[in-house]
Amino acid sequence: MSVQFFIVPLVAVALTQVAVIATSVYLHRGLAHQALRVHPIAGIVFRTVLWLTTGQRRREWVAVHRKHHAFTDREGDPHSPRVLGFWRVQVLNVYYYVREARNGETIRRFAPDVIEDRADRLLFSWGWGGLSVGMVLLCLVLGFWPGVIAGVGHALLYVFVLAPSINGLGHWRGTQNFENTAYNSAWRAWITGGESLHNNHHAHPRAPQFSARFGEFDPSWLLIRALVAAGLVTIGRSAAKARGDMRRRVAGESDETLAAPALAGARSEDLVEG
Ligand SMILES: [Zn+2]
Ligand SMILES: [Zn+2]
Repeated sequence: MSVQFFIVPLVAVALTQVAVIATSVYLHRGLAHQALRVHPIAGIVFRTVLWLTTGQRRREWVAVHRKHHAFTDREGDPHSPRVLGFWRVQVLNVYYYVREARNGETIRRFAPDVIEDRADRLLFSWGWGGLSVGMVLLCLVLGFWPGVIAGVGHALLYVFVLAPSINGLGHWRGTQNFENTAYNSAWRAWITGGESLHNNHHAHPRAPQFSARFGEFDPSWLLIRALVAAGLVTIGRSAAKARGDMRRRVAGESDETLAAPALAGARSEDLVEG
């Protein structure tokens, strides 16, 4: 049996993992919630990876996601399974994302702090360009058909399996540590860069780590810790406090400061609503 029989699906899965973790660390925790400060050098690497593997524009992603937090599971949420229906979000997640990303008012209101810089104008705003370059690179490395199949496989996994499993299933079924309309899935967290610990995340959006208790694993947190050790990422005081509050609440250490997590969580919501 040909080696490519194994290599092609492995490459597709690896690409999807790289894209999901880059989305989680840079776009989600770094830009959208400002739970991390990413060094410009690491920022350019993340943007290049996202450009080649997803073609997403950072300003659009941040705006759509902050709107999701501002209107979670009510009218105005760009991709709520409770408002739109589970299967519509599971199958058409990409359509709802693109529709909201094209709404100029959403971009202006929810991502005024994410400025299009020279690198965006020259390169990263050309999403289809990034995907095309990514596909050419894959074909050069793997050969034409294996490259095309690995690239398409990655796109299908990212667009129709992993991203909607966070937006759809993450607001539909699972376990909960906190009272909100999102759910955790410990096993899906392993394949979604920790994003499926979504109940924890909605309770403490400013926390840079999504796992809160024994048995929950957040793969992106491993990368974040390595980047912190390398001096490429820093975690500010309020983000560190949000993380501590989240973990203390799950551990049941309720004390006078229990009101604080709500404030820490509200900070980013205030940012997007103001
Ligand atoms: Zn959510
Ligand atoms: Zn979020």
